[in-house]
Amino acid sequence: MSYDVIVVGARCAGAPLAMLLARAGRSVLLLDRSRFPSETMSTHWVLRQGIDLLAEWNLLNDLFATGCPPITEVRMDFGDVVLSGVPTTASGATAVTCAPRRFVLDNLLVRAAVEAGVEVREGVAVSDVVWEDGAVVGVTGAGFTERARLVVGADGRNSTIARAVGAATADDRGALTATSYAYWSGLDVSGVETTIRPGCGVSMWPTHDGLTVVGLVLPRQDFLSRKQPGEQIYLDSLAQFDRLRGCRVESRVRVATNLRNYHRRSHGPGWVLAGDAGYHQDPIGAHGISNAFSDADQLSRTILRALDGGVRIERGLARYEARRNADRAASFEFTCGQAALRPVNDFDHVLSAAAAHPATASELLGMFVGGRRIEQFFAPANLARMIGG
Ligand SMILES: Cc1cc2nc3c(=O)[nH]c(=O)nc-3n(C[C@H](O)[C@H](O)[C@H](O)COP(=O)(O)OP(=O)(O)OC[C@H]3O[C@@H](n4cnc5c(N)ncnc54)[C@H](O)[C@@H]3O)c2cc1C
Repeated sequence: MSYDVIVVGARCAGAPLAMLLARAGRSVLLLDRSRFPSETMSTHWVLRQGIDLLAEWNLLNDLFATGCPPITEVRMDFGDVVLSGVPTTASGATAVTCAPRRFVLDNLLVRAAVEAGVEVREGVAVSDVVWEDGAVVGVTGAGFTERARLVVGADGRNSTIARAVGAATADDRGALTATSYAYWSGLDVSGVETTIRPGCGVSMWPTHDGLTVVGLVLPRQDFLSRKQPGEQIYLDSLAQFDRLRGCRVESRVRVATNLRNYHRRSHGPGWVLAGDAGYHQDPIGAHGISNAFSDADQLSRTILRALDGGVRIERGLARYEARRNADRAASFEFTCGQAALRPVNDFDHVLSAAAAHPATASELLGMFVGGRRIEQFFAPANLARMIGG
């Protein structure tokens, strides 16, 4: 049998994309080498754009029904300035976010895909793509070959599909941080709390089962030069953090030191990349899940228009990639700056204004939670309005 679309990777990019295509009546095969529910490395804070898409897909209420606590307050400690309040969207509404455990969120997405009619195969690793006349026409793995009109690589940072099609890296700023995290109990955290110092960032937010995710971000080179186990560096660094005194670590510490900031050429004859496979930013800004959702949303529209004969598929995919890159350009630059963990000098005026005016603080916090676009927030006219010229 040949499918309309084969999607490789069934988490934040792949599962909703498959679901949206199947909801529109398309035949979709979704393959993942993992089985669900299962964990993956992530501190899993879903920003406002991601929350909006979950709501649009009718999955947000199901997610909250799993016991995932909604987050409405944010506290950001920059040292001289501490901002605390309710972040707002551009329309002035409270920017609600949440941080579901990935074994909950990803399983919910996969089950929604199944419900929509997607054929899901778990525990199946794709090893290569199948070529015919210069175009990708399917995928292959141990004991199977499947064919489709389009193959989507939604298979994460180390994408097999990207490697198989030779997708070139278009922009690569390298890995800037070492990010480690664990789950803690005994912490009274109802919102997002971050503490940012030159050369160090600590963040925490509530998740399922009364636990709090506590993340530590250090410059990658400093981290690697310590030549200690990552878990030790995490625990030693946080031992000096008063907020955690008397609290307990309830999980193993997970460490990532190879989080490159890049985007890849993301389409070609018969193939396209979605989520981290095509575009990756350091998780310091927590954009990954929302970006993966956004790719699923945009790509599903593009693919459906092409399969319905409305536009040539190559043209549609080229537009998808160009739009994605343009849409994320400001966020990419801002995230690379955040990930460099430099002192926040160029940010001082905005911080002072935010410290003096609660409404400006809400706007700034709203920008950090994805309720406001970065380029609009930093637009000269907006800066002039907030800081008075
Ligand atoms: C330490 C850390 C903290 C993070 N914190 C946040 C955060 O707070 N908020 C946020 O928004 N983002 C965060 N992220 C980023 C976020 O986790 C990713 O951006 C997001 O998971 C990307 O989703 P995806 O579907 O593109 O890829 P993935 O989630 O990586 O899923 C890819 C899937 O493809 C499957 N796969 C891979 N290769 C194959 C193959 N050959 N055959 C079959 N299946 C395959 C894998 O099994 C996997 O299930 C963090 C990341 C890290 C590393």
